[in-house]
Amino acid sequence: MVAVGKGIVYLVGAGPGDPGLITVKGAELLRKADVIIYDRLAGHRLTALARPGAEVIYVGKSPDCHTLKQAEINSLLVAKAREGKLVVRLKGGDPFVFGRGGEEAEALVEAGIDFEVVPGVTSAIAVPAYAGIPVTHRDFTSTLAVITGNEDPTKENPGIAWDKIATGAGTLVFLMGMANLPAIVRRLVENGRSPQTPAALVRRGAGPEQQTLTGTLEDICEKAKLAEFKNPAVIIVGDVVSLREKLNWFEKKPLFGKRVLVTRSREQASALSAAIEEAGGEALEFPVIRVVEPEDYGPLDRTISNLKTYDWVIFTSVNGVQAFFRRLRHHRKDVRELHQARLCAIGPKTGEALENYGLLVETVPEKYRAEEIIEVLRDRIGGGTKILLPRADIARKVLPEALRQMGADVTEVTAYRTVAGDGDSSRIREMLARGEIHLITFTSSSTIRNLVKMLNAPDLQALLKNVVVACIGPVTAGTARELGLKVDVVAEEYTIEGLVRSLLGYYGLQTV
Ligand code: SAH
Repeated sequence: MVAVGKGIVYLVGAGPGDPGLITVKGAELLRKADVIIYDRLAGHRLTALARPGAEVIYVGKSPDCHTLKQAEINSLLVAKAREGKLVVRLKGGDPFVFGRGGEEAEALVEAGIDFEVVPGVTSAIAVPAYAGIPVTHRDFTSTLAVITGNEDPTKENPGIAWDKIATGAGTLVFLMGMANLPAIVRRLVENGRSPQTPAALVRRGAGPEQQTLTGTLEDICEKAKLAEFKNPAVIIVGDVVSLREKLNWFEKKPLFGKRVLVTRSREQASALSAAIEEAGGEALEFPVIRVVEPEDYGPLDRTISNLKTYDWVIFTSVNGVQAFFRRLRHHRKDVRELHQARLCAIGPKTGEALENYGLLVETVPEKYRAEEIIEVLRDRIGGGTKILLPRADIARKVLPEALRQMGADVTEVTAYRTVAGDGDSSRIREMLARGEIHLITFTSSSTIRNLVKMLNAPDLQALLKNVVVACIGPVTAGTARELGLKVDVVAEEYTIEGLVRSLLGYYGLQTV
């Protein structure tokens, strides 16, 4: 048990954008924190690690709107720690690189609050890396300077020694410098840096919106103006910029630049999200399905007490397997009850779920649909074969009907129900309207029905006009079309891996 006692504040670096770049220690603290206080560059995605009941406070400072002043943030940190809380102050990049982390630490010391620093991956180094620019390289430079671009370069007594900086370090990285770009460039050239020096701007690095512009000190301002290049961006000046041509790795990933909505239930989303991120996309999880218990356990319980009488048990989903065995356990029974029954799984994941219970699965059809199960079982089922089908409340009727036509005695029971997710759909609607979601994946008909219901948008077609819709199989695609969606990708193999493979194929790229 953790004693309720002294509060503590951890100043944690969140990394530059890709949530995978937080440190192990930082992620652990986010999971443990009572209070998380974060700002814009620290990103919304990491706060998903917060434990249920944790207080998550946004104090985002953005250039045009200071939500909380620095002094107010300092007081908030002190106040929360004085309540005895474990406070994580999550800051973009590294807390001590132009993050005002130093000031926050001072305020904590002055208030007598314990604090620790968990350094982070700074954008000054990681954002160039994601653009294929190593900030040092033996053939180009052995010095690196990280400089604020926030200081008005025209002021009388600059805090930056432009005469020394301009030529004193091989690579110059400016943070917060976009607004002052022309003045920065002028200062560098005035102080002796060659106008031919390569320069790059990288906006919103290490994420799907990463945008890179390269040029020289001579033309970078003009190019930036033409491209309407905006904050937040890092400015990189130095010969290392030329390495990008060879080393640009991130922007070449197959799903680079794509934010992909993953609609599966929270428990099941991770495999799909991981595959998307591996391909360079950003997975945005918005579970539109929640798996809940049946309203009435009576029918399932009756079959459980009669399990010995079944010849076959057919599982059509991982959820079905889990719900079934959970209930079996509830009655203090286990797999031994099934010793006489043969097992069939509708797909490899369902099969795997059964094998995880130590069970041998007799049959997994090659194509993962109800229609295929029927084909596979045709020779093995005769008049009176007793089949149990533990399923979702809304499962399709094709399978039991066909089995009955073959003479089988089929018992269908509801092992679980799926209901709509309880997430806030307004954020998703806004992101769709702003064109920030590029692709939506549907892994079952109910994911489509529920998303459409949850979005509750009268202008659904318009909202999804530029969004690529990808479905796990033809049945799901059929539902999408019925509901008025255009379908761009239908997986050839009806699995998560198959879906990702077809997605990569759609973008005209090598499969992994
Ligand atoms: N402590 C942070 C920097 C905070 S200052 C760190 O170590 O990274 C904020 C500036 O960082 C922005 O104006 C921008 O110049 C830079 N920055 C942070 N994240 C960035 C990103 N993902 N892409 C480009 N620039 C970024």
